[in-house]
Amino acid sequence: MRADDRAHVFHSWSAQSLINPLPIAGAEGSYFWDYEGKRYLDFSSQLVNINIGHQHPRLVAAIQEQAAKLCTIQPAFANDKRGEAARLIAELAPGSLNKVFFTNGGAEANENAIRMARGHTGRHKVLSTYRSYHGSTAAAITATGDPRRWANEPTAVGVVHFWGPYPYRSPFYSASPEQETQRALQHLRDTIVFEGAGTIAAVLIETVVGTNGILVPPPGYLDGVRAICDEFGIVFIADEVMAGFGRCGEWFAVDRWGVTPDLITFAKGVNSGYLPLGGVLVSDEIAATFAERPFPGGLTYSGHPLACASAVASIEIFKEEGIIEHARALGDDVIAPGLAALQEKHPSIGEVRGLGVFWALELVRNRETKEPLVPFNASGAAAGPMNEVAAAAKERGLWPFTHFNRVHVVPPCTATADEVRQGLSILDEALDVADRYY
Ligand code: PLP
Repeated sequence: MRADDRAHVFHSWSAQSLINPLPIAGAEGSYFWDYEGKRYLDFSSQLVNINIGHQHPRLVAAIQEQAAKLCTIQPAFANDKRGEAARLIAELAPGSLNKVFFTNGGAEANENAIRMARGHTGRHKVLSTYRSYHGSTAAAITATGDPRRWANEPTAVGVVHFWGPYPYRSPFYSASPEQETQRALQHLRDTIVFEGAGTIAAVLIETVVGTNGILVPPPGYLDGVRAICDEFGIVFIADEVMAGFGRCGEWFAVDRWGVTPDLITFAKGVNSGYLPLGGVLVSDEIAATFAERPFPGGLTYSGHPLACASAVASIEIFKEEGIIEHARALGDDVIAPGLAALQEKHPSIGEVRGLGVFWALELVRNRETKEPLVPFNASGAAAGPMNEVAAAAKERGLWPFTHFNRVHVVPPCTATADEVRQGLSILDEALDVADRYY
């Protein structure tokens, strides 16, 4: 298996000769294991997508049932599971987000949301934040703010980056979250004015920034973005590829703030990645733009019956098992107090932030100066200390999600309180490694 992998599999985001992927034999619930029988508690939810846990029997059965009936039918036909999945997702969404364009994942969802915004407004620019990840296709990687964009430039045209709020390392030197909101909104407004409002199709933001730090928007920020978009006739796209479907203890992260975007992009948690699926939730107003004129985009596998059947089953399971409420309670009652206790003990934890099952620890060498444990965009030797923290966790049977100087605590929404406590106690030991650099 290793030989085939090394000889023939070309892996994502990697220098191909420098990696040695761990072969995985199986998975169940919050765990996966290798061929030597070593089990890992999955505190990464893979790429933050296994919201329902691994191998949920009912979800597996729903896929098997659909596979026996109809595996595939192209998007121009109607299909029962395609229609049902779209209806269930639209019923969960706020406002008039009543239609769903299905894709195979998150990047394609953002790609098509941008296409819709451009078609709807007749404008071309897209504003997105520096601390963001929107996927690796052309427009999505250009909209991405993080360093993965750099080697891909130039790709799409018309993307302009701005700073979103980040109270812990405020780009605006704010003294409070409220001030951060005010200054971040003023910065967005200034960016729009200087770019020319009449050229801007969309503001694209992650409702809660995921990979780039689990940045929870400060009070009033999302309302403010909504109001600014309304004022200038700009489409507000909320990327909920990572934040949606239970991750924030809500169906959609925007529910936490009662804000309704014009388009919501989703993927990952919609069916926990059991099959590739993503999509764009479209407002009635934007859908009307394409009522008489054709929407200029499509995908062979849009609304794939197997993937849609898995989304239907997943949403039913979420409802019946109370998974949203469970995720919220895990965050409030177990993860928040557990991480606060770790911060008391470990000087290297500069900040704890998050909600639901979506948390980050920012590791620093000095709490006063906030010098990060490893620099922004650390790679190679510079990334060493974080690799040591991750290795210490893996050695003890915990699979963590780490990114630059952060450990993200992102177990499945279905993890039990005991599993989360066990994971936090392993993390406690691994963080001793970070403290040595303090
Ligand atoms: N948007 C966000 C916020 C993401 O976190 C991701 C992936 O991590 C994407 C978009 C891209 O999704 P995909 O990898 O399914 O294309």
